[in-house]
Amino acid sequence: MLTGELSKIQDIIAKQRKFFQTGKTKEIAFRLEQLKMLKQLVLENESAIIQALNQDLHKPEFETYATEIGGIKEINYAIKNLKSWTQPKKAPVPADFFTYSARIYPEPLGVILIIGPWNYPFNLIISPLVGAIAAGNCAIIKPSELAPHTSKLLAELISKYFPSEYIAVVEGGVETSQQLLQEKFDHIFFTGGTAIGKIVMEAAAKHLTPVTLELGGKSPCIVDTEINLEHTARRITWGKFINAGQTCVAPDYLLVNRKIKPDLITALRKTIKEFYGDNPANSPDFARIINQKHFTRLSQLIKHGEIIIGGDINPEERYIAPTIIDRVSLTDPIMQEEIFGPILPIIEYTDIQEAIALINSQPKPLALYLFSHNKNLQQSILKETSSGGVCLNDTIMQVGISSLPFGGVGNSGIGSYHGKASFDTFSHYKSVLKNTFWLDLNWRYAPYKDKLSLLKRIIK
Ligand code: NAD
Repeated sequence: MLTGELSKIQDIIAKQRKFFQTGKTKEIAFRLEQLKMLKQLVLENESAIIQALNQDLHKPEFETYATEIGGIKEINYAIKNLKSWTQPKKAPVPADFFTYSARIYPEPLGVILIIGPWNYPFNLIISPLVGAIAAGNCAIIKPSELAPHTSKLLAELISKYFPSEYIAVVEGGVETSQQLLQEKFDHIFFTGGTAIGKIVMEAAAKHLTPVTLELGGKSPCIVDTEINLEHTARRITWGKFINAGQTCVAPDYLLVNRKIKPDLITALRKTIKEFYGDNPANSPDFARIINQKHFTRLSQLIKHGEIIIGGDINPEERYIAPTIIDRVSLTDPIMQEEIFGPILPIIEYTDIQEAIALINSQPKPLALYLFSHNKNLQQSILKETSSGGVCLNDTIMQVGISSLPFGGVGNSGIGSYHGKASFDTFSHYKSVLKNTFWLDLNWRYAPYKDKLSLLKRIIK
């Protein structure tokens, strides 16, 4: 386990560079072995992971299984597909290049820096690490200091299962991140807020280091009239209040057709009660806010609009009840920043074009949700809005499909990962063209006299 002192950081980077240069991480057998080791790390320490998440976020065991330990699906997927991903791929050549052959070789980048957030503090480190290992890299991990138990556990486990010249954890706060960012890496994978994303990109630019930025934003959830009301209410309630709303792809606000709004509110009220009981403070299935700063921020957000469900808070426990707010104005603070907590504002629309115009007036979100079985409406939302991803008639589930690249666009991020996209993110695709010696046409060589007309014919 390392704490962030500059000389220690520089030392570990130097050791990883040396290890990378041995070529060991490029061996497919080595990568498979390490992916299996990572899976073992997770499976052998399930109870410690559950405990750490409980201490940091009061995360229910079920949610830790589903959203943190469940990340081993990504490891299985990488193990299953690694051989095919690492194969050089043939590329076609034009007929007049008949003596050539072309191939694209994926090669690892080198030493990767992974900076994680606090909301899914285990999985959002392990998941990118799967890609870094699969693609044949070394990695330095900086977990979030705001989830200290998980950070400590990650540091202990990684140092137990992997040599630090291959994978190492550097624990510490903002200064540690800043020290790390001064160094040259071959790729930086950052998950966090848009504001810090800009700082990371600026630091990376000094070394011309490529970045993947997995950021957040306000993900809208549109509810049309053509729905199964009960299913819609359950899927929204689950997606919004899992991890007490501290999910980057949680529906941030509802855009509801005014004809269905009263029925939807009734259904949401019933569902919240079904999920968390009469008093969610007593439910073992509802998490808490990460720290006092975020608790205070969220407590301010419920001061505007009309609370129609929930609204109870308890500062000692950092508890905020599942809360729904009506009569929200676009200028209220709750509509000016990513909520990232268990508060769901409702905005009504009469015509879908109003909803589309509102979405398009905001920065591009990480996720967009539409509840409607109207295919024409689905198509117009897909065509007329832009977002990192879309999930129709459900929430959050898009993140669990390894064949779907996950990432943002515009303010919600740069690049993507999961499944093959993770392998691609941490690989360089090297183009290789090969000629043979059995023929050497001289149409391109000087002297060029009388060759221009032939060239023109070839090009056209
Ligand atoms: P954050 O941006 O505050 O912090 C993330 C990391 O950045 C931490 O490890 C922290 O140490 C480091 N950091 C903080 N200040 C820094 C600075 N000045 N210089 C360098 N590094 C610094 O994010 P957070 O609060 O941990 O997470 C919440 C945000 O992350 C939300 O916006 C959420 O939407 C987003 N998020 C995105 C995804 C995704 O996959 N796209 C997933 C989870 C969270």
